[in-house]
Amino acid sequence: MRLHDTATRSLVQATDSAPGSELFTMYVCGVTPYDAAHLGHGFTFMTFDLIRRRVEDLGRPVKLVRNITDVDEPLYAKAAEMGVHFLDLARSEERRMQSALGRLGLIPPEVEPRASEHLDEIVAMISSLLAAGAAYELDGDIYFDVSATPGYGRVSGYSHGLMTRFAQMRGGDPDRAGKRQPLDFLLWRRIGDEGDPARWETPLGPGRPGWHIECSVMADRHLGTGIDVHGGGADLIFPHHECEQAQSTAAGRVPFVKCWVHVGPMQMGGEKMSKSLGNLVFVDRLLEDHSPAAIRLALMRYHYRSGGEWRPEFIEDGEELSRKLRKAAAGVSRAEAAALPAGPLLREIRAALDDNLDAPRCVRRLESCLSRPNAGDSHAADVVRVADLLGIESALA
Ligand SMILES: [Zn+2]
Repeated sequence: MRLHDTATRSLVQATDSAPGSELFTMYVCGVTPYDAAHLGHGFTFMTFDLIRRRVEDLGRPVKLVRNITDVDEPLYAKAAEMGVHFLDLARSEERRMQSALGRLGLIPPEVEPRASEHLDEIVAMISSLLAAGAAYELDGDIYFDVSATPGYGRVSGYSHGLMTRFAQMRGGDPDRAGKRQPLDFLLWRRIGDEGDPARWETPLGPGRPGWHIECSVMADRHLGTGIDVHGGGADLIFPHHECEQAQSTAAGRVPFVKCWVHVGPMQMGGEKMSKSLGNLVFVDRLLEDHSPAAIRLALMRYHYRSGGEWRPEFIEDGEELSRKLRKAAAGVSRAEAAALPAGPLLREIRAALDDNLDAPRCVRRLESCLSRPNAGDSHAADVVRVADLLGIESALA
């Protein structure tokens, strides 16, 4: 299976298309749980779900880790506004998100680690970076020194100027006086105020970790080095993944990642769906009126690398395709389907997924195939197996 690797800006062999038994590891950056999952989240996580389903189809076991960023600035702000503890807000939003994504047919991650439960390991990694001279203190805060690892900028491929601009826009502080380099980023923020709930007493002093170090630590703790696929939304390329790569490499976790996969945005009115623009479509809201298979089929009309303008009418097309799938698969059980050799439809869907996860091609292929009369049991068996492979098995129920 070939996938586009952000760091080399090329298609790489993510896994052999021959069956294997070696564990395939995936780390997907999860959400900050302060609001419900929207279609942008659904699209991103469905992309990684399709990758895992194809890898499992090849016979390889998968371990997928999707973290919960419950130590993060927007969460404290929302919790303070609501007058609740930030971890209570995180837990309730976390359950809401898991339920919506589960109903969308996502296979649950093997591990869903919370940043708040990895403080000791975070402190240990920051301490080792300090000891190695890759981090330094500034008025109680601790920064990563980007000159400590060769090739900062390698993951994104962005110029120094662009990285500085993004750092400014996305929560960095390139202008802070006293830093060694403008792009040095925060590992630990000192919090003097004892009334601040997001504050831990540690050997580094009182405070809380920066966002990037949390993922480096959780990836290391649950998957180790050489992660087969690590990714998330394309807006995480810089600074988040660039910084993860830098820290993990400086901490000796090499190779950190074999393939970086990033998913383009779902848009509404020409803009990326985002909380600040108020143009969100929530997954649990859509599930009230539509089947999960129809929503997935609608999302699969977009290539994962590009995303695109959300078109609600795609869901109606998805409902219709689901009905045709159900009819075409009638009378053949999963066990019967698995016992038959792969027919042309299954082979073509596998080939499309192996070709940089070409989900739009899968949908087009299904449409053209199901518009013709049923070609018998082997065809029905293919439909059953394709439904499992694409995570639309709920259409057959
Ligand atoms: Zn992350």
